[in-house]
Amino acid sequence: MKSQFRGGVHPADSKDTDKEAVKTLPLLELYLVSLSQHIGSPAEPIVSAGDKVLKYQEIAKPTGFISASLHAPTSGTVKAVEPSPHPSGRLIPAIVIESDGEDREFDISTNSDPNLEKGPEVWNDMVKNAGIVGMGGAAFPTHVKLSPPDDKPIELMIANGIECEPYLTADHRLMLESPELVAVGLRLTMEMVGAKKAIIGVEANKPDAIETFRSFDLPPDVEVAELPVMYPQGAEKQLIYALLGKEVPKGGLPMDVGVVVQNVGTLAAICEAVTKGKPLVERIMTLGGSVPAGPGNYLARIGTPLSDIVKQTGGMKGPAARIVSGGPMMGQAMTSFESPVLKGTSGLLVFGPGEMKALNQRACVRCGACVRVCPVSLMPQTLGNMVEWNIFDELEQNHINDCIECGCCAYVCPSDRNMVQFIRQGKAEIITRGQKI
Ligand code: SF4
Ligand code: SF4
Repeated sequence: MKSQFRGGVHPADSKDTDKEAVKTLPLLELYLVSLSQHIGSPAEPIVSAGDKVLKYQEIAKPTGFISASLHAPTSGTVKAVEPSPHPSGRLIPAIVIESDGEDREFDISTNSDPNLEKGPEVWNDMVKNAGIVGMGGAAFPTHVKLSPPDDKPIELMIANGIECEPYLTADHRLMLESPELVAVGLRLTMEMVGAKKAIIGVEANKPDAIETFRSFDLPPDVEVAELPVMYPQGAEKQLIYALLGKEVPKGGLPMDVGVVVQNVGTLAAICEAVTKGKPLVERIMTLGGSVPAGPGNYLARIGTPLSDIVKQTGGMKGPAARIVSGGPMMGQAMTSFESPVLKGTSGLLVFGPGEMKALNQRACVRCGACVRVCPVSLMPQTLGNMVEWNIFDELEQNHINDCIECGCCAYVCPSDRNMVQFIRQGKAEIITRGQKI
């Protein structure tokens, strides 16, 4: 490690599921493949009600450069393309597929390169055709990240195995159980972006994953770096600073400092897309919190209703007071289990009433704690107060759009202020005002 990034917090790890090997969920009757599960424009359906589909068949095309295609998670019949539950709380169109129970596959072998002979340009097309997006939660279309412009030469690839959110252990299990997929995906992406070196970054609370990679037959240009535990070290800019001491400029991207970062799950998906032609139709996710009867790590098909995950893993031990898609710091709080697994769904956490800190939001007491922990040097209290008092004009000059919504400010606030909610509201208001002009 070279540097400690600014700010950050130390929430309790709570990674009790890290010893739970990945189990595959059984085939279900119904899948809801949301058209909106990546950053950028939603995908456009190319199937309609009544169509028969095969597993891996493309069912929605990307619209525009920053978008990604979707594929059927099993064989069956398209029941509808209709507004459906989404982790955001809104109803968003999804392709509803009724399984025929046979799991028959579309032939993907023609779109593969098992001997890795076709070269980086073809591999990038394969990644695009596979609909791969960042699986650490950001869900940015991967082929875009792997196509840096000519004036941004890339020196280094970083494999992000940090998984700093409490409770989540899906990446940890992937690194232990399928390190070869991560290693091959890393090698492929190095060639795609022209990087001469790579670092696999893993936090010290996963010593077995670090050991796995260190004892693995990695080439000499790939280093395994152990980093001290600190949240939000898995955020790209914080990870780059921690590993290299380099600061990505405000409003800039990792490629501005010659770096591309890919989550380890994304690298595994890239390996499978290129070597087997496999589209992204499943992912590992953590089921955690005190309420689920079967906490652990599960291989779930994209489109699996979260309610089915709970049912298939033994149900719940008690009432749910808080349901979160993703991790507790950056995840999306939900009111029900109706929405499906998306490509960026790293976890489903369910907490009971006794575990919930009763939030009693009060006025800011100007203690400055939020300023000290903000990893991007913002003034969270100022942003929160501006939104609360409807002073929206100055949010942009106070750099609200640099906020990575890590939740560190809310975590330390003695007045229980829901800072991330204020900031999301402020960002949404800026977009709405821009649309009115
Ligand atoms: S203002 Fe944004 S980036 Fe800063 S601590 Fe709060 S949520 Fe994180
Ligand atoms: S931590 Fe809370 S109370 Fe303290 S300055 Fe920030 S917003 Fe205000």
